[in-house]
Amino acid sequence: MHTDTTQAPLDTVETLALRYPDIPVEAIFKEDILRRGMAWSRGALEIAAGYKPKAYFIFSFDLVPIAEMRQGENTKAPEEIRLVGGPYDFKPVIVSVRLNPSSPYRVEKGDEGSLLMKLDGQVVAAVELQKAPSYYHHTLANGKPIMDIAPTIEWGYLLYLTVFRLCQYFGAQEECQFCDINENYRQQRKAGRPYTSVKSVEEILEALEIIASTDSDSKAYTVTGGSITSTLEDKSEIDFYARYPEAIEKRFPGRWIGKVVIQALPKDQVQRLRDAGTKIYHPNYEVWDRRLFEIICAGKNRYIGRDEWIRRILDAADVFGPGNVIPNFVAGIEMSKPAGFATVDEAIASTSEGLDFFMSHGVSPRFTTWCPEPLSVLGRTQAGAPLEYHVRLLRAYRDTRARYGLKPPQGYGQPGLGNAVFSVSSFMDVLPPAAAVQ
Ligand code: SF4
Repeated sequence: MHTDTTQAPLDTVETLALRYPDIPVEAIFKEDILRRGMAWSRGALEIAAGYKPKAYFIFSFDLVPIAEMRQGENTKAPEEIRLVGGPYDFKPVIVSVRLNPSSPYRVEKGDEGSLLMKLDGQVVAAVELQKAPSYYHHTLANGKPIMDIAPTIEWGYLLYLTVFRLCQYFGAQEECQFCDINENYRQQRKAGRPYTSVKSVEEILEALEIIASTDSDSKAYTVTGGSITSTLEDKSEIDFYARYPEAIEKRFPGRWIGKVVIQALPKDQVQRLRDAGTKIYHPNYEVWDRRLFEIICAGKNRYIGRDEWIRRILDAADVFGPGNVIPNFVAGIEMSKPAGFATVDEAIASTSEGLDFFMSHGVSPRFTTWCPEPLSVLGRTQAGAPLEYHVRLLRAYRDTRARYGLKPPQGYGQPGLGNAVFSVSSFMDVLPPAAAVQ
């Protein structure tokens, strides 16, 4: 049964909180905000403009294109918000800002310059913002802002290095159908944002030099970008991407936990990443169901294929250690229209099968909560998964991890409600707190 379609949003959240008391209400609200996006009042936006801005670190993660933002939200909104207190007595929970001027979730001014998150006019929690780190005020020698070259997310924990802002899977027949990387690049350039398509190794090192000398909050970095199916700057995918961790780890050995998010590559190529000093490898499989993978990830399916993709994930576990192979899936695309599952039960059964498969090998998938971005193929329908799907997925994830005795993933900061910093899903918020996890 979908609760969403028949109830007001607040009633849906409260119904699910009663039905699933083992999932904190903070996580239920967070999932709902992530899948619906949030609106900002003009006054709230003016306050937010003085804090760390949304950097558009890879995709848009918005539910409207920039062309439809009437208040300059794309330049004024913050990267993330922290929800605390309020009528539900929230423990701190960090939520990525996904813009949607018509969302029922709206940030408004409270008393004395404070900010409140409201749902259909009812206060949910207080909103806190993060100051921009001092390195955000620096530029490189060539004039590029650090926010373009090395933005930070997860409340300052993760430096996000999208070194190639485009993908060579191109057009509706090849691009993953939930992904707006190429369209987002175009809209950002059109809007006048400094948005480097290919970042040089030298630019990355120069930015990290500044960050290393001024910052102690960042604990990890991610090197990522679109897929390279032929060559980029005359280099194959592995030759292009491996240069970054090689250079970073040579210059700053062990300074951060190094993560790489690229396609599932053959074992000898993956070994190069490990030899460079990369700690975590994310060969993202996006969706478990075979039929949906073939439709939604048509490019990946054609060039590599689902069976080979999975085989390579398991091969990578030999190289990195299974707990350090963390393939992402996009939570909710199992229920996208027109090809997805029609019921929450079917979608959860399928994804749970995938979680069980990987976790039985010690491999630790994770997810980002899908919001239908309108510049992607699936986003055109604006029909995401119901909230109950996301709540049940959190339970399946937590319980499957526990069944296989898996430790919290490395490179995500502390797990547990009140500690977690991962902002595009609540999976870290619902894990039990653990000591000595970095
Ligand atoms: S491989 Fe798919 S998800 Fe990754 S950037 Fe390309 S289109 Fe987007």
